[in-house]
Amino acid sequence: MDLNLLENEKIPGVITTNLQQIVNWGRKNSVWYMLFGIACCAIEGLMATGASRYDLDRFGMIFRASPRQSDLMIVAGTVNEKMADRVRRLYDQMAEPKWVMAMGACAISGGPYQGKYNVVDGVDRIIPVDVYVPGCPPRPETVIYGLMKIQEKIARDGLEKRLKEKVRA
Ligand code: SF4
Repeated sequence: MDLNLLENEKIPGVITTNLQQIVNWGRKNSVWYMLFGIACCAIEGLMATGASRYDLDRFGMIFRASPRQSDLMIVAGTVNEKMADRVRRLYDQMAEPKWVMAMGACAISGGPYQGKYNVVDGVDRIIPVDVYVPGCPPRPETVIYGLMKIQEKIARDGLEKRLKEKVRA
């Protein structure tokens, strides 16, 4: 390491910002996603993304097994009609502000099962979705890109704006 570089680096003694930006910065770098997989996308895409090779921990993202402690619901898989009200209930149990990613063709639109009697043609029919990540299943790089888009959204949005969006929806 070049010690000269460190010595010459100018670090400001004082920075000014507002509370919302600091809160958003903390939120975006500590997204806890709910451990919740409902079909093959959860195994092939989400578990691969969270494991050591791609390592979501480096984004400050860890999974929680409780909706009450989660900021992000990643819907990874086919949502069938029987499961739909459970998905909605888990979403309702998450505290605001909360975000949703629809991962894979099934969660986005029903995928290969679209139009079948037992499948919901897109999870956005039951809960609001922030980011859609296509693929069958999506590659881990694609999932990470989607998560970075969620982080951008978190950094941009304030809690107030988020709640207003919910009231309008
Ligand atoms: S999109 Fe493909 S991999 Fe994902 S749940 Fe549907 S069928 Fe399985």
